[in-house]
Amino acid sequence: MAHPYLLQTSRLKRPPVETALFDFFKVGPGPSSSHTIGPMKAGADFAQRCASLPDSVLARVADVHVTLLGSLSATGLGHGTDVAVLAGLLGNAPESCPPTVLPDLKADRASRHAMRIGDRELSVGLDDIEFGPLRHDAPYSNTLRMALRDADGKSLFDMEYYSVGGGFIQWKGYTAPERGKPAHPYGTMRELSARLRETGLTLHELILENETAITGMGRPAIYERLDAIMDAMYDSVRRGLAAGGKLPGTLGVWRKAGGLLERSKTHTMPIGKGMGLLNAYSFAVAEENAAGGVIVTAPTCGAAGVMPALLYAMRNDLNVGERALREGLLASAAVGMLAKHNAGIAGAEVGCQGEVGVASAMAAAMLAHARGYAADVVENAAEIALEHHLGLTCDPVGGYVQIPCIERNAMGAVKAGNAVLLATSEEDCQHLVSLDAAIMAMGEIGREMNVKFKETSGGGLAVSMVEC
Ligand code: SF4
Repeated sequence: MAHPYLLQTSRLKRPPVETALFDFFKVGPGPSSSHTIGPMKAGADFAQRCASLPDSVLARVADVHVTLLGSLSATGLGHGTDVAVLAGLLGNAPESCPPTVLPDLKADRASRHAMRIGDRELSVGLDDIEFGPLRHDAPYSNTLRMALRDADGKSLFDMEYYSVGGGFIQWKGYTAPERGKPAHPYGTMRELSARLRETGLTLHELILENETAITGMGRPAIYERLDAIMDAMYDSVRRGLAAGGKLPGTLGVWRKAGGLLERSKTHTMPIGKGMGLLNAYSFAVAEENAAGGVIVTAPTCGAAGVMPALLYAMRNDLNVGERALREGLLASAAVGMLAKHNAGIAGAEVGCQGEVGVASAMAAAMLAHARGYAADVVENAAEIALEHHLGLTCDPVGGYVQIPCIERNAMGAVKAGNAVLLATSEEDCQHLVSLDAAIMAMGEIGREMNVKFKETSGGGLAVSMVEC
Protein backbone atom coordinates (compact mmCIF):
# COMPACT_ATOMS: atom_id res chain seq x y z
CA MET A 1 0.00 0.00 0.00
CA ALA A 2 1.29 3.44 -0.93
CA HIS A 3 2.44 5.63 1.92
CA PRO A 4 -0.43 8.09 2.68
CA TYR A 5 1.89 11.09 2.73
CA LEU A 6 3.10 10.45 -0.79
CA LEU A 7 -0.32 11.15 -2.31
CA GLN A 8 0.00 14.84 -3.01
CA THR A 9 3.21 14.76 -4.99
CA SER A 10 2.33 11.53 -6.77
CA ARG A 11 -0.59 13.42 -8.32
CA LEU A 12 1.63 16.26 -9.41
CA LYS A 13 1.46 16.73 -13.19
CA ARG A 14 3.77 19.25 -14.74
CA PRO A 15 4.75 20.10 -18.31
CA PRO A 16 8.20 18.78 -19.24
CA VAL A 17 11.41 20.57 -18.31
CA GLU A 18 12.78 22.13 -21.51
CA THR A 19 15.58 24.25 -20.07
CA ALA A 20 18.88 23.85 -21.90
CA LEU A 21 22.01 23.23 -19.85
CA PHE A 22 23.83 26.33 -20.99
CA ASP A 23 20.86 28.57 -20.41
CA PHE A 24 21.00 27.30 -16.85
CA PHE A 25 24.76 27.49 -16.20
CA LYS A 26 25.85 30.93 -17.35
CA VAL A 27 29.21 32.62 -17.01
CA GLY A 28 28.90 36.30 -16.15
CA PRO A 29 29.68 39.07 -13.70
CA GLY A 30 28.28 39.16 -10.16
CA PRO A 31 26.85 40.07 -7.82
CA SER A 32 23.36 38.92 -8.81
CA SER A 33 21.93 36.85 -11.65
CA SER A 34 18.51 38.48 -11.39
CA HIS A 35 19.80 41.97 -10.54
CA THR A 36 22.96 42.09 -12.70
CA ILE A 37 23.06 39.42 -15.43
CA GLY A 38 19.32 39.55 -16.26
CA PRO A 39 19.18 43.38 -16.40
CA MET A 40 22.34 43.50 -18.53
CA LYS A 41 20.73 41.06 -20.97
CA ALA A 42 17.54 43.14 -20.97
CA GLY A 43 19.55 46.30 -21.76
CA ALA A 44 21.38 44.55 -24.59
CA ASP A 45 18.13 43.11 -25.98
CA PHE A 46 16.50 46.54 -25.90
CA ALA A 47 19.45 48.13 -27.71
CA GLN A 48 19.27 45.45 -30.39
CA ARG A 49 15.55 45.93 -30.92
CA CYS A 50 16.01 49.70 -31.14
CA ALA A 51 18.52 49.22 -33.93
CA SER A 52 15.88 47.63 -36.14
CA LEU A 53 13.33 50.45 -35.74
CA PRO A 54 12.52 52.44 -38.91
CA ASP A 55 14.57 55.56 -39.63
CA SER A 56 11.45 57.70 -39.32
CA VAL A 57 11.18 56.67 -35.66
CA LEU A 58 14.88 56.86 -34.89
CA ALA A 59 15.06 60.40 -36.30
CA ARG A 60 12.76 61.57 -33.48
CA VAL A 61 14.56 59.85 -30.56
CA ALA A 62 15.70 62.22 -27.82
CA ASP A 63 16.54 59.90 -24.94
CA VAL A 64 16.18 56.44 -23.40
CA HIS A 65 14.47 56.01 -20.06
CA VAL A 66 14.58 52.91 -17.84
CA THR A 67 12.47 52.28 -14.75
CA LEU A 68 13.47 49.57 -12.28
CA LEU A 69 10.57 48.12 -10.31
CA GLY A 70 10.07 45.82 -7.33
CA SER A 71 13.11 44.16 -5.87
CA LEU A 72 15.27 45.58 -8.69
CA SER A 73 14.47 49.03 -7.34
CA ALA A 74 14.71 48.11 -3.65
CA THR A 75 18.19 46.55 -3.83
CA GLY A 76 19.30 47.61 -7.30
CA LEU A 77 21.83 50.17 -6.09
CA GLY A 78 23.71 47.65 -3.93
CA HIS A 79 23.45 45.00 -6.63
CA GLY A 80 24.63 47.38 -9.37
CA THR A 81 21.45 46.90 -11.42
CA ASP A 82 21.52 50.37 -12.96
CA VAL A 83 25.15 49.90 -13.98
CA ALA A 84 24.36 46.49 -15.49
CA VAL A 85 21.45 47.90 -17.53
CA LEU A 86 23.67 50.70 -18.81
CA ALA A 87 26.39 48.19 -19.75
CA GLY A 88 23.75 46.21 -21.69
CA LEU A 89 22.45 49.32 -23.47
CA LEU A 90 26.04 49.98 -24.51
CA GLY A 91 26.17 46.56 -26.19
CA ASN A 92 27.78 44.36 -23.53
CA ALA A 93 26.70 40.77 -22.94
CA PRO A 94 27.31 39.07 -19.54
CA GLU A 95 29.41 36.21 -20.95
CA SER A 96 31.78 38.51 -22.83
CA CYS A 97 31.68 41.73 -20.82
CA PRO A 98 35.29 42.78 -20.07
CA PRO A 99 35.91 42.81 -16.29
CA THR A 100 36.61 46.55 -16.18
CA VAL A 101 33.33 47.67 -17.77
CA LEU A 102 31.06 47.53 -14.70
CA PRO A 103 33.60 49.06 -12.25
CA ASP A 104 34.40 51.84 -14.75
CA LEU A 105 30.75 52.70 -15.30
CA LYS A 106 30.17 52.66 -11.56
CA ALA A 107 33.20 54.81 -10.75
CA ASP A 108 31.89 57.85 -12.60
CA ARG A 109 28.15 57.95 -12.11
CA ALA A 110 27.73 61.31 -13.80
CA SER A 111 29.38 60.51 -17.13
CA ARG A 112 27.49 60.08 -20.38
CA HIS A 113 28.15 57.35 -22.93
CA ALA A 114 27.37 56.72 -26.59
CA MET A 115 24.71 54.06 -27.17
CA ARG A 116 24.84 52.87 -30.76
CA ILE A 117 21.47 52.46 -32.47
CA GLY A 118 22.20 51.34 -36.01
CA ASP A 119 24.39 54.07 -37.44
CA ARG A 120 23.26 56.65 -34.87
CA GLU A 121 24.50 57.41 -31.39
CA LEU A 122 22.40 58.34 -28.39
CA SER A 123 23.83 59.79 -25.18
CA VAL A 124 22.97 57.60 -22.16
CA GLY A 125 23.99 57.59 -18.53
CA LEU A 126 22.99 56.33 -15.11
CA ASP A 127 20.73 59.39 -14.78
CA ASP A 128 18.44 57.81 -17.36
CA ILE A 129 17.72 54.91 -15.03
CA GLU A 130 15.07 55.53 -12.42
CA PHE A 131 14.51 53.50 -9.24
CA GLY A 132 10.71 53.09 -9.32
CA PRO A 133 8.19 51.74 -6.80
CA LEU A 134 8.60 48.49 -4.90
CA ARG A 135 4.97 47.52 -5.46
CA HIS A 136 3.66 47.38 -9.01
CA ASP A 137 1.19 45.49 -11.16
CA ALA A 138 3.56 43.56 -13.47
CA PRO A 139 3.52 39.76 -13.15
CA TYR A 140 7.11 39.48 -11.81
CA SER A 141 8.70 41.38 -8.96
CA ASN A 142 11.92 42.01 -10.91
CA THR A 143 10.53 44.21 -13.68
CA LEU A 144 12.27 46.74 -15.94
CA ARG A 145 10.48 49.17 -18.23
CA MET A 146 12.53 50.69 -21.03
CA ALA A 147 11.44 53.40 -23.44
CA LEU A 148 12.92 55.35 -26.32
CA ARG A 149 11.36 58.76 -26.04
CA ASP A 150 10.96 61.86 -28.19
CA ALA A 151 11.77 65.41 -27.10
CA ASP A 152 8.36 65.70 -25.36
CA GLY A 153 9.02 62.59 -23.27
CA LYS A 154 6.54 60.55 -25.34
CA SER A 155 7.38 56.90 -25.85
CA LEU A 156 8.37 55.94 -29.40
CA PHE A 157 9.15 52.33 -28.53
CA ASP A 158 8.99 50.53 -25.20
CA MET A 159 9.44 47.12 -23.67
CA GLU A 160 8.63 45.58 -20.30
CA TYR A 161 11.22 43.01 -19.21
CA TYR A 162 11.12 40.52 -16.36
CA SER A 163 14.29 39.17 -14.75
CA VAL A 164 12.94 35.84 -13.59
CA GLY A 165 15.96 34.45 -11.76
CA GLY A 166 19.23 32.74 -12.62
CA GLY A 167 19.92 35.38 -15.32
CA PHE A 168 16.87 34.36 -17.37
CA ILE A 169 14.78 37.15 -18.85
CA GLN A 170 11.34 37.32 -20.37
CA TRP A 171 9.23 40.22 -21.59
CA LYS A 172 5.59 41.19 -21.97
CA GLY A 173 4.14 38.87 -24.61
CA TYR A 174 7.11 36.48 -24.31
CA THR A 175 6.83 33.07 -25.87
CA ALA A 176 9.59 30.54 -25.39
CA PRO A 177 11.76 30.07 -28.50
CA GLU A 178 10.98 27.08 -30.68
CA ARG A 179 13.41 24.30 -29.86
CA GLY A 180 13.49 20.57 -29.97
CA LYS A 181 11.49 18.55 -27.47
CA PRO A 182 13.27 16.50 -24.80
CA ALA A 183 13.90 12.89 -25.80
CA HIS A 184 12.84 11.72 -22.31
CA PRO A 185 10.25 14.21 -21.05
CA TYR A 186 9.86 14.73 -17.31
CA GLY A 187 8.29 17.49 -15.25
CA THR A 188 8.96 16.10 -11.77
CA MET A 189 11.58 13.96 -10.07
CA ARG A 190 9.05 11.19 -9.90
CA GLU A 191 8.66 11.25 -13.70
CA LEU A 192 12.43 11.52 -14.16
CA SER A 193 12.91 8.42 -12.02
CA ALA A 194 10.31 6.60 -14.13
CA ARG A 195 12.15 7.57 -17.35
CA LEU A 196 15.40 6.26 -15.85
CA ARG A 197 13.76 2.94 -15.00
CA GLU A 198 12.11 2.65 -18.43
CA THR A 199 15.22 3.47 -20.45
CA GLY A 200 17.92 1.98 -18.23
CA LEU A 201 19.89 5.20 -18.73
CA THR A 202 21.94 6.75 -15.97
CA LEU A 203 20.92 10.22 -14.80
CA HIS A 204 23.73 12.00 -16.65
CA GLU A 205 23.09 10.05 -19.87
CA LEU A 206 19.42 11.01 -19.82
CA ILE A 207 20.27 14.68 -19.32
CA LEU A 208 22.76 14.49 -22.21
CA GLU A 209 20.20 12.89 -24.54
CA ASN A 210 17.65 15.54 -23.64
CA GLU A 211 20.19 18.30 -24.24
CA THR A 212 20.95 16.99 -27.71
CA ALA A 213 17.25 16.70 -28.51
CA ILE A 214 16.50 20.22 -27.24
CA THR A 215 19.47 22.11 -28.69
CA GLY A 216 20.79 19.88 -31.46
CA MET A 217 24.26 19.93 -29.88
CA GLY A 218 26.33 16.76 -30.18
CA ARG A 219 28.26 15.18 -27.29
CA PRO A 220 31.66 16.73 -28.11
CA ALA A 221 30.18 20.24 -28.17
CA ILE A 222 28.29 19.63 -24.91
CA TYR A 223 31.41 18.26 -23.19
CA GLU A 224 33.45 21.21 -24.38
CA ARG A 225 30.99 23.67 -22.92
CA LEU A 226 30.64 21.69 -19.69
CA ASP A 227 34.41 21.77 -19.30
CA ALA A 228 34.39 25.52 -19.89
CA ILE A 229 31.76 25.91 -17.16
CA MET A 230 33.88 23.84 -14.76
CA ASP A 231 37.00 25.83 -15.66
CA ALA A 232 35.15 29.07 -14.96
CA MET A 233 34.15 27.66 -11.56
CA TYR A 234 37.74 26.63 -10.71
CA ASP A 235 39.04 30.03 -11.84
CA SER A 236 36.58 31.80 -9.58
CA VAL A 237 37.79 29.73 -6.60
CA ARG A 238 41.45 30.44 -7.37
CA ARG A 239 40.90 34.17 -7.90
CA GLY A 240 38.93 34.48 -4.70
CA LEU A 241 41.53 32.57 -2.65
CA ALA A 242 44.28 34.87 -3.93
CA ALA A 243 42.41 38.15 -3.42
CA GLY A 244 42.44 40.28 -0.28
CA GLY A 245 41.21 43.60 1.12
CA LYS A 246 37.70 44.90 1.52
CA LEU A 247 34.75 44.25 -0.75
CA PRO A 248 33.10 47.17 -2.57
CA GLY A 249 30.25 48.99 -0.86
CA THR A 250 29.62 50.70 2.43
CA LEU A 251 29.52 47.64 4.71
CA GLY A 252 33.30 47.32 5.05
CA VAL A 253 33.29 43.53 4.64
CA TRP A 254 36.78 42.00 4.50
CA ARG A 255 37.60 39.14 2.17
CA LYS A 256 38.31 36.05 4.27
CA ALA A 257 38.76 33.17 1.83
CA GLY A 258 42.58 33.16 1.83
CA GLY A 259 42.69 33.24 5.65
CA LEU A 260 40.15 30.43 5.89
CA LEU A 261 42.27 28.31 3.58
CA GLU A 262 45.38 28.89 5.70
CA ARG A 263 43.55 28.00 8.90
CA SER A 264 42.05 24.87 7.37
CA LYS A 265 45.60 23.52 7.10
CA THR A 266 46.06 23.72 10.86
CA HIS A 267 42.93 21.75 11.80
CA THR A 268 43.86 18.47 13.36
CA MET A 269 40.48 16.72 13.08
CA PRO A 270 39.54 15.53 9.56
CA ILE A 271 36.06 17.05 9.87
CA GLY A 272 37.55 20.47 10.66
CA LYS A 273 39.91 20.21 7.73
CA GLY A 274 37.18 19.15 5.28
CA MET A 275 34.72 21.79 6.43
CA GLY A 276 37.50 24.37 6.54
CA LEU A 277 38.33 23.73 2.89
CA LEU A 278 34.68 23.93 1.81
CA ASN A 279 34.33 27.19 3.76
CA ALA A 280 37.41 28.65 2.08
CA TYR A 281 36.40 27.62 -1.44
CA SER A 282 32.81 28.84 -1.12
CA PHE A 283 33.90 32.14 0.47
CA ALA A 284 36.37 32.59 -2.39
CA VAL A 285 33.64 32.48 -5.06
CA ALA A 286 31.00 34.32 -3.05
CA GLU A 287 33.52 37.10 -2.39
CA GLU A 288 34.45 37.23 -6.07
CA ASN A 289 30.75 37.48 -6.85
CA ALA A 290 30.26 40.29 -4.32
CA ALA A 291 33.15 42.14 -5.95
CA GLY A 292 31.49 41.88 -9.38
CA GLY A 293 33.94 39.21 -10.58
CA VAL A 294 33.10 36.58 -13.18
CA ILE A 295 31.31 33.53 -11.78
CA VAL A 296 28.90 30.82 -12.96
CA THR A 297 25.19 30.95 -12.11
CA ALA A 298 24.62 27.72 -10.21
CA PRO A 299 21.74 28.31 -10.00
CA THR A 300 22.26 32.06 -9.36
CA CYS A 301 25.07 34.52 -8.72
CA GLY A 302 24.18 34.96 -5.04
CA ALA A 303 24.56 31.23 -4.52
CA ALA A 304 27.48 30.87 -6.94
CA GLY A 305 29.93 29.69 -4.26
CA VAL A 306 28.28 26.41 -3.30
CA MET A 307 28.75 24.27 -6.42
CA PRO A 308 32.34 25.39 -7.18
CA ALA A 309 33.30 24.70 -3.55
CA LEU A 310 32.20 21.07 -3.83
CA LEU A 311 33.56 20.71 -7.35
CA TYR A 312 36.96 22.13 -6.41
CA ALA A 313 37.14 19.93 -3.31
CA MET A 314 36.12 16.84 -5.28
CA ARG A 315 38.79 17.49 -7.88
CA ASN A 316 41.66 18.64 -5.67
CA ASP A 317 41.05 17.02 -2.29
CA LEU A 318 38.98 13.92 -3.06
CA ASN A 319 40.70 12.99 -6.34
CA VAL A 320 37.45 12.55 -8.25
CA GLY A 321 38.22 12.06 -11.97
CA GLU A 322 37.30 14.52 -14.72
CA ARG A 323 34.66 12.25 -16.22
CA ALA A 324 32.89 11.74 -12.91
CA LEU A 325 32.99 15.48 -12.24
CA ARG A 326 31.32 16.17 -15.58
CA GLU A 327 28.69 13.52 -14.90
CA GLY A 328 28.09 14.95 -11.44
CA LEU A 329 27.57 18.40 -12.93
CA LEU A 330 24.93 16.97 -15.28
CA ALA A 331 23.13 15.33 -12.35
CA SER A 332 23.18 18.63 -10.46
CA ALA A 333 21.59 20.35 -13.45
CA ALA A 334 18.62 17.97 -13.29
CA VAL A 335 17.95 19.03 -9.69
CA GLY A 336 18.41 22.74 -10.38
CA MET A 337 16.19 22.68 -13.46
CA LEU A 338 13.42 20.85 -11.56
CA ALA A 339 13.58 23.47 -8.79
CA LYS A 340 13.39 26.29 -11.34
CA HIS A 341 10.57 24.56 -13.22
CA ASN A 342 8.37 23.75 -10.22
CA ALA A 343 9.09 26.51 -7.69
CA GLY A 344 11.68 29.17 -8.55
CA ILE A 345 15.33 30.01 -8.06
CA ALA A 346 15.21 33.79 -7.56
CA GLY A 347 15.53 35.33 -4.10
CA ALA A 348 12.95 37.89 -5.22
CA GLU A 349 10.43 35.13 -5.95
CA VAL A 350 10.97 32.48 -3.27
CA GLY A 351 13.66 33.81 -0.92
CA CYS A 352 17.12 32.36 -0.35
CA GLN A 353 15.78 28.81 -0.14
CA GLY A 354 15.62 29.03 -3.97
CA GLU A 355 19.21 30.28 -4.25
CA VAL A 356 21.51 28.78 -1.60
CA GLY A 357 18.96 26.03 -0.84
CA VAL A 358 18.81 24.90 -4.46
CA ALA A 359 22.59 25.30 -4.88
CA SER A 360 23.09 23.04 -1.88
CA ALA A 361 20.69 20.45 -3.30
CA MET A 362 22.48 20.57 -6.66
CA ALA A 363 25.88 20.19 -5.00
CA ALA A 364 24.64 17.21 -2.98
CA ALA A 365 23.33 15.56 -6.16
CA MET A 366 26.63 16.25 -7.92
CA LEU A 367 28.72 14.69 -5.16
CA ALA A 368 26.48 11.64 -4.76
CA HIS A 369 26.27 10.99 -8.51
CA ALA A 370 30.00 11.52 -9.09
CA ARG A 371 30.70 8.98 -6.36
CA GLY A 372 28.60 6.43 -8.18
CA TYR A 373 25.48 6.28 -6.03
CA ALA A 374 22.15 5.22 -7.58
CA ALA A 375 19.59 7.81 -8.70
CA ASP A 376 17.37 7.33 -5.64
CA VAL A 377 20.31 8.08 -3.34
CA VAL A 378 21.17 11.12 -5.47
CA GLU A 379 17.57 12.29 -5.12
CA ASN A 380 17.62 11.76 -1.36
CA ALA A 381 20.85 13.70 -0.98
CA ALA A 382 19.41 16.62 -2.96
CA GLU A 383 16.15 16.44 -1.02
CA ILE A 384 17.87 16.50 2.37
CA ALA A 385 19.96 19.51 1.38
CA LEU A 386 16.92 21.41 0.11
CA GLU A 387 14.62 20.39 2.98
CA HIS A 388 16.91 21.99 5.51
CA HIS A 389 16.96 25.29 3.70
CA LEU A 390 13.15 25.56 3.48
CA GLY A 391 11.87 28.92 4.68
CA LEU A 392 15.21 30.64 4.27
CA THR A 393 14.63 34.33 3.63
CA CYS A 394 16.53 36.73 1.40
CA ASP A 395 17.43 39.83 3.41
CA PRO A 396 20.76 41.16 2.13
CA VAL A 397 22.09 43.94 4.35
CA GLY A 398 22.32 47.28 2.53
CA GLY A 399 21.25 45.56 -0.69
CA TYR A 400 24.76 44.12 -1.11
CA VAL A 401 25.24 40.42 -1.86
CA GLN A 402 27.58 40.11 1.13
CA ILE A 403 25.77 39.68 4.46
CA PRO A 404 24.37 37.05 4.91
CA CYS A 405 25.15 35.78 1.41
CA ILE A 406 28.86 34.96 1.65
CA GLU A 407 28.71 32.90 4.86
CA ARG A 408 25.46 31.39 3.65
CA ASN A 409 27.25 29.92 0.63
CA ALA A 410 29.66 28.19 3.01
CA MET A 411 26.76 26.84 5.05
CA GLY A 412 25.11 25.57 1.87
CA ALA A 413 28.29 23.79 0.81
CA VAL A 414 28.80 22.13 4.18
CA LYS A 415 25.13 21.09 4.34
CA ALA A 416 25.48 19.52 0.88
CA GLY A 417 28.31 17.33 2.18
CA ASN A 418 26.28 16.29 5.21
CA ALA A 419 23.21 15.60 3.07
CA VAL A 420 25.25 13.13 1.02
CA LEU A 421 26.52 11.56 4.22
CA LEU A 422 22.96 11.12 5.51
CA ALA A 423 21.56 9.87 2.20
CA THR A 424 24.33 7.34 1.72
CA SER A 425 23.98 6.04 5.27
CA GLU A 426 20.29 5.11 4.97
CA GLU A 427 18.90 1.70 4.27
CA ASP A 428 16.84 1.35 1.08
CA CYS A 429 13.34 2.86 1.19
CA GLN A 430 13.81 4.53 4.58
CA HIS A 431 13.67 8.02 3.15
CA LEU A 432 10.13 9.36 3.23
CA VAL A 433 10.35 12.86 1.75
CA SER A 434 10.72 13.09 -2.01
CA LEU A 435 12.57 15.83 -3.86
CA ASP A 436 9.26 16.80 -5.50
CA ALA A 437 7.72 17.29 -2.06
CA ALA A 438 10.59 19.53 -0.93
CA ILE A 439 10.41 21.58 -4.15
CA MET A 440 6.65 21.85 -3.84
CA ALA A 441 7.03 23.04 -0.24
CA MET A 442 9.64 25.57 -1.33
CA GLY A 443 7.23 26.96 -3.94
CA GLU A 444 4.40 27.27 -1.43
CA ILE A 445 6.61 28.90 1.19
CA GLY A 446 7.97 31.28 -1.46
CA ARG A 447 4.50 32.35 -2.52
CA GLU A 448 3.44 32.95 1.10
CA MET A 449 6.68 34.68 2.11
CA ASN A 450 6.30 38.36 2.89
CA VAL A 451 7.79 40.58 0.19
CA LYS A 452 10.15 42.16 2.75
CA PHE A 453 12.03 38.84 2.88
CA LYS A 454 12.36 38.52 -0.90
CA GLU A 455 15.45 40.49 -1.92
CA THR A 456 14.02 43.88 -1.01
CA SER A 457 16.20 44.47 2.06
CA GLY A 458 12.97 45.45 3.85
CA GLY A 459 13.12 42.94 6.70
CA GLY A 460 15.18 40.44 8.67
CA LEU A 461 18.91 41.02 8.91
CA ALA A 462 18.67 43.91 6.46
CA VAL A 463 16.79 45.98 9.03
CA SER A 464 18.08 44.47 12.27
CA MET A 465 21.59 45.60 11.36
CA VAL A 466 21.70 49.39 11.53
CA GLU A 467 24.37 51.86 10.48
CA CYS A 468 26.45 53.24 13.35
S1 SF4 B 1 20.32 36.28 0.93
FE1 SF4 B 1 20.47 34.53 -0.47
S2 SF4 B 1 18.93 34.95 -2.06
FE2 SF4 B 1 19.32 36.87 -1.00
S3 SF4 B 1 20.89 37.93 -2.20
FE3 SF4 B 1 21.93 36.76 -0.58
S4 SF4 B 1 22.43 34.77 -1.52
FE4 SF4 B 1 20.90 35.76 -2.85
